Amino acid sequence: SKTQVGFIGLGNMGNPMAKNLLKHGYPVIATDVFPESCKEVQELGAQIVDNPAEVADKADRIITMLPSSPNVIDVYTGPNGILKKVKKGSLLIDSSTIDPAVSKEMAAAAEKMGAVFMDAPVSGGVGAASSGKLTFMVGGAEEEFTAAKELLSCMGANVVYCGQVGTGQAAKICNNMLLAIGMIGTSETMNLGIRLGLDPKLLAKILNMSSGRCWSSDTYNPVPGVMEGVPSGNNYQGGFGTQLMAKDLGLAQNTATNTKTPVPLGSLAHQMYRMMCARGYANKDFSSVFQFLREEEGQ
Ligand code: NAD
Repeated sequence: SKTQVGFIGLGNMGNPMAKNLLKHGYPVIATDVFPESCKEVQELGAQIVDNPAEVADKADRIITMLPSSPNVIDVYTGPNGILKKVKKGSLLIDSSTIDPAVSKEMAAAAEKMGAVFMDAPVSGGVGAASSGKLTFMVGGAEEEFTAAKELLSCMGANVVYCGQVGTGQAAKICNNMLLAIGMIGTSETMNLGIRLGLDPKLLAKILNMSSGRCWSSDTYNPVPGVMEGVPSGNNYQGGFGTQLMAKDLGLAQNTATNTKTPVPLGSLAHQMYRMMCARGYANKDFSSVFQFLREEEGQ
């Protein structure tokens, strides 16, 4: 029979991910600082404990899904952190999107305790988390990949090995920088076309059969009414928050600074999403940059 899997961080993504582990027959032992977040998985049979150290005391495979770097540092190395009680030989998988330098620090701290840490951030959003179709980008010791994949494939359709620890984060950060640039480009293009008198649905159709086509134009169009089942059709509720996108663009800027890499459009995208956070868009989906651009025009 399957042994317990620990899960820490039951938010928008962690909740459906933990549910998929339960569905695949893994007993789950979980915790979250926000007790409300634990209710649904508890009702589905997960055991809820008070803190990460207690999870580590009972499970030797643990997945963490937390907002950002400081939360990950706290959950691993804090006073009630995983590393206070971790068992030798444990496999610790962090699926949060954080600074790759922090992933490396956590890996070094885990190694001191005889445990293995891997970074495995995800692409796909809440819908893909619910349907078990996430993409995992995994960094860490290659000989541990098979063990990690066994768990991650319950929650994802693609589990890709990227290289040493931190490279999963590197892949994720690069993807989101391009996504942000593409979303802003799609939004300003759609807005220009509308102001030139084009019907937005027709313009989207033309883009999507032409060389301007991208994920933001054909799968997640930011203009209300062009597509159904996307946040732009629902006043930009749900989806991937502007605040989280701004965080990921900040991570891209840090890594670009550290490696002296020019990323002019990534930098501009970061500043635009920061401005949006300051202007009340923090919790709207990141495709609301279309609405933000319209406001800038005084419409
Ligand atoms: P979220 O804020 O909804 O969930 C995070 C959870 O962690 C919350 O329930 C919070 O209470 C809990 N938490 C925070 N600190 C904790 C601590 N010290 N101990 C225990 N629990 C703690 O965030 P999310 O949308 O689930 O995203 C999680 C990560 O996944 C982020 O790094 C995000 O960038 C990334 N991500 C999100 C999406 C998305 O579409 N939402 C997609 C891909 C990647």
